[in-house]
Amino acid sequence: MPLKHRIAQALNQREAQGLYRRRKTLTRQASSVRQANQTQPSLNFSSNDYLGLAQDPTLIAAWQQGLSKYGAGSGASPLVTGHHTPHQSLEARLAEWLGFERALLFSTGFSANQAVLFALLEKGDLLIQDKLNHASLMEAGMLSPAIMRRFAHNDADALHKLLSQNTDENMARLVVTEGVFSMDGDQAPLADIAARCHTSQSWLMVDDAHGCGILGDEGRGSCHQAGIRPDILIVTFGKAFGMQGAAVLCSQDVAEYLIQFARHYVYSTAMPPAQAYALCTACDLVQAGDWRREKLLTLGTILEETLLPEVGLVSTATPIKPVLLGESERALTLSALLSEKGFWVSAIRPPTVPVHQARLRITLTASHSEAHVRELANHLNASFEEVQDAANPSEQPD
Ligand SMILES: *Cc1c(COP(=O)(O)O)cnc(C)c1O
Repeated sequence: MPLKHRIAQALNQREAQGLYRRRKTLTRQASSVRQANQTQPSLNFSSNDYLGLAQDPTLIAAWQQGLSKYGAGSGASPLVTGHHTPHQSLEARLAEWLGFERALLFSTGFSANQAVLFALLEKGDLLIQDKLNHASLMEAGMLSPAIMRRFAHNDADALHKLLSQNTDENMARLVVTEGVFSMDGDQAPLADIAARCHTSQSWLMVDDAHGCGILGDEGRGSCHQAGIRPDILIVTFGKAFGMQGAAVLCSQDVAEYLIQFARHYVYSTAMPPAQAYALCTACDLVQAGDWRREKLLTLGTILEETLLPEVGLVSTATPIKPVLLGESERALTLSALLSEKGFWVSAIRPPTVPVHQARLRITLTASHSEAHVRELANHLNASFEEVQDAANPSEQPD
């Protein structure tokens, strides 16, 4: 089929399935946001800026100062002329803070995940992933020459079964899980998973994009909270750090190996040094951010206590609060009703989540007030009942 027809067909199909995605243009990212084509702001319960750092004046000032000191761009790949003193400082700081020999910076979490899996795995290796791992990990696994197996979500016994079916001592084995799952807000049983990896001499890699900054002492993340140290830890800066970028935490040898062989590292322009400079300030704010983390817990309790039980909020220990709804249409309807009331809560649909598991994904941030969260919960309760009544008119009282 010619490309032109393939594209038109795929777009029509998406639209017909109710899965078509459209971007919304914001004037500025914050807890209260205005879309470029609207006059009224809405309260944003969809961002991953959990600690509210994206609009933090100290962080903005640090980035501005970094720009003055180092200029706008890095100029090249880290192996050419792109690696500057702020990159070096940030790497050293992350390694020390998170308890690894080395840290290596990447421009995005997506590229960090792909770089590690593509560089480490070869034909005949075994890659085992949690079924709900992020698209960047799944895609790298599918394209990698290694054999990929997936285990039932958060099921350490299922992982163990896969490991015990593959006991060849010469086979390189890598197990990959997230610390906090982005669409469910639940946490991997990291202590169990690490123990299974240890007994089978498999390496463990944890992508803690949603846990670092939020969980553990000083926000060190899921692994620190669980008392484990994986062989490879991925942290990203687009969520709790309020910025952009990622780091791979690992041993001396793995870092050196990635510098030699990871194409996403070698052939990609280094992040701007000003950004690395600002990220050091983001680390300060994250580490000193206990009050923000405590606030998130308080807001979570308020949400759980104010929502009606039938709404179906899934209780989590993270700022990600899913409301499971089933069909995409229901999620879209509720999202639209909330939007009319001034609340931005995204409907998450397949293929981002499994079919029949469409949901509203509420994310709390430290910039929300308790009143914001109560308002959201009350409006969601009302919208939910409206949708229920429309679906079951016979049960309506007369
Ligand atoms: C967001 C996310 C990524 C990608 O990170 P970016 O820096 O946004 O590219 C990777 N893994 C997980 C689990 C994520 O949630």
